[in-house]
Amino acid sequence: MARALGLLGNEWTVLILQRALLGTTRYSGFLHELPISNSVLTSRLNTLVDEGLLEHRIYQRNPIRAEYRLTDRGRSVWSILLAIWDWERTWVSHQDETLPTMSHTPCGCDFRPVLACTACDKAVAVQDVSTSWGPSGSWARSSADAMTRRRSGRRAKPVFFPETMEAFGDRWSSSMIGAAFLGICRFSEFQSALSMPPSLVADRLQLFVAQGVLTTVQHGQRANWVEYHLTEKGRAFFPVVMLMLTWAEKWYRSEEGPALIHVHDDCQKEFVPTLTCSHCGRRLKGGDVLPSTAQFASGAS
Ligand SMILES: [Zn+2]
Ligand SMILES: [Zn+2]
Repeated sequence: MARALGLLGNEWTVLILQRALLGTTRYSGFLHELPISNSVLTSRLNTLVDEGLLEHRIYQRNPIRAEYRLTDRGRSVWSILLAIWDWERTWVSHQDETLPTMSHTPCGCDFRPVLACTACDKAVAVQDVSTSWGPSGSWARSSADAMTRRRSGRRAKPVFFPETMEAFGDRWSSSMIGAAFLGICRFSEFQSALSMPPSLVADRLQLFVAQGVLTTVQHGQRANWVEYHLTEKGRAFFPVVMLMLTWAEKWYRSEEGPALIHVHDDCQKEFVPTLTCSHCGRRLKGGDVLPSTAQFASGAS
């Protein structure tokens, strides 16, 4: 799971996958469509091939021509990208560009994705799901300690999905967002559950409060008791978190079983998320969802 979150927490990875889902296959195509350098593109494409999301296929020998094709694993991230798009579009003001609207081909309408339960088809919000640890889950294994620590400081602000990338752009942040959804709310709890240095906990809490994802709540009776609660904007991130966790469980499953077990309280079945169309109510499929803005679809950005 840590590996999966690390992969999807990279803005270039997400943008390359987005272009691939819209049909880009050639190296030159990615280079043309994204403001990316050769070295970064090469390195991110290699990672995506190593992780099994893209397949590098040589289709002509003289001269050599190759393409990058999405595998099933790569193609299946479409719902995560759609949920990221919806959250950024709803909650984040983008300075440079406005994210396009999305159109659902079967009903022909602009829509928003709605998180729903695969078992009963009802719309699901964060308070409708109960989560507990599965056989391979624990704080120790989910915290950043168990992952490669590539960076612990802040980096330059991402441009395209700025706040999503700040939430998932490094492993400490994604662990903390996950912990907040699991009910962790005090400074000392974040520190001990995730084995995080206090300075990092303080830094990330400050960032999430500044973003409006968490808010501080003062305990009524106890002077020094401060809790960090998810705001409405924070709770609205639930589909992204849920779809990422489900994707990670599916494609990077531990032999012991799942790390987390989710139950939909209403139907009492295991909660497996799906997305439905806000307009027609049908379940969304990857191929049925397209940006309405032609400029975005053609990759000019
Ligand atoms: Zn259900
Ligand atoms: Zn529809």
